[in-house]
Amino acid sequence: MSNFPVMQIRADFPILADKIRDRPLVYLDNAASCQKPQVVIDTLTHVYAHEYANIHRGVHTLSMRATERFEAAREIARGFLNAESVKEIIFVRGATEAINLVAQSYARPLLQPGDEILITAMEHHANIVPWQMVCQQTGAALKVAPMNLQGELILEAFYPLLTPKVKLLALSHMSNALGTINPVKPLIAAAHALNIPVLVDGAQAAPHLAVDVQDLDCEFYVFSGHKVYGPSGVGVLYGKQAWLEAMPPYQGGGDMIRKVSFSGTEYAGLPHKFEAGTPAIAEVIGLGAAIQYVQGVGLAAIAAHEADLLAYATELARGIPELRIIGEAAHKGGILSFTLHKIHPHDIGTLLDNLGIAVRAGHHCAMPVMEFFCVPATARASFAMYNTHQEVDYLMNGVKSLIKVFA
Ligand code: PLP
Repeated sequence: MSNFPVMQIRADFPILADKIRDRPLVYLDNAASCQKPQVVIDTLTHVYAHEYANIHRGVHTLSMRATERFEAAREIARGFLNAESVKEIIFVRGATEAINLVAQSYARPLLQPGDEILITAMEHHANIVPWQMVCQQTGAALKVAPMNLQGELILEAFYPLLTPKVKLLALSHMSNALGTINPVKPLIAAAHALNIPVLVDGAQAAPHLAVDVQDLDCEFYVFSGHKVYGPSGVGVLYGKQAWLEAMPPYQGGGDMIRKVSFSGTEYAGLPHKFEAGTPAIAEVIGLGAAIQYVQGVGLAAIAAHEADLLAYATELARGIPELRIIGEAAHKGGILSFTLHKIHPHDIGTLLDNLGIAVRAGHHCAMPVMEFFCVPATARASFAMYNTHQEVDYLMNGVKSLIKVFA
């Protein structure tokens, strides 16, 4: 047993003390969204109670105070990703909006018929549909790098797909449906050898792995606040400054302008050029608090704890003959997707809920992954820093009890 302070961490998350159907909540749906520590809840309350005003425009004290806290959160997010400059941190609604921004602002003006966008077979819909849309708009083609039955990218098939026709490689750092962690650094280097820029979808990786965008050298990195223990409605697009400078704004409106007249508009500099309209002010500040909380625990310790939970859960799962694990990559994050013989995943989800255990059941916004594994859906347990070995026991005992009922 490690000395990871899981019980101390649990005490920071008030919802974990709640009961569901008269049973202790076992929250294993973290890949969909994480629960919030008290410090994030307190930050939101405090901002709304004492520090709230619109930002960037006011000369009054509250507006200046809110602006200061908002921009301080940008610095925290910069540090979290080790970006070179706060100009490279764009606050958006989440990973989905960040990818759409890059699709429409970087790819759309550039793509021509015959060009290609390369993604992988394990992407979330958020990293598929925006590219399909931009391909439809421009006549470019979407190419998909295949995976094997373990849920790993097939590298011998991936590399030949990197050709000069590819104008962007967009891939997940960690798959939400399978847990696979992709070897993004060498893949980015291979893309760069052909001058292909890379977008990394870090929605699943950012809460669980230390990310250093300068070390990865990717052009774009995206993540969502609600998956890093922060509020919903806020996320981050990291982009290398030179790339963001060269891109036109995504949306027009307030805050992204320097000067407006009816004959034309001069845009603001980075990062504001991409932040049209009033942002999610309190939520951005709350995200700053969430990131600081995660940093306080330490991503290396979180990753080790979650790896431990995954190893334990996988070992127990392998001992259940009726259970099929979907996604057995050698390098995986804390996600256990599975199906059970004779029980539909939606029934697994509902029946486990009767025991107070929250897992996700469905296609996990990754329908092509379900198709690849020839399953309609999976049940998915996904671990966070506050989960315990005892909760894994509850899950697996719950699964065994379902199997008995359906035998
Ligand atoms: N990418 C991956 C890998 C995800 O898991 C998710 C959400 O589950 C997203 C993108 C989209 O994130 P959001 O819905 O927060 O925009």
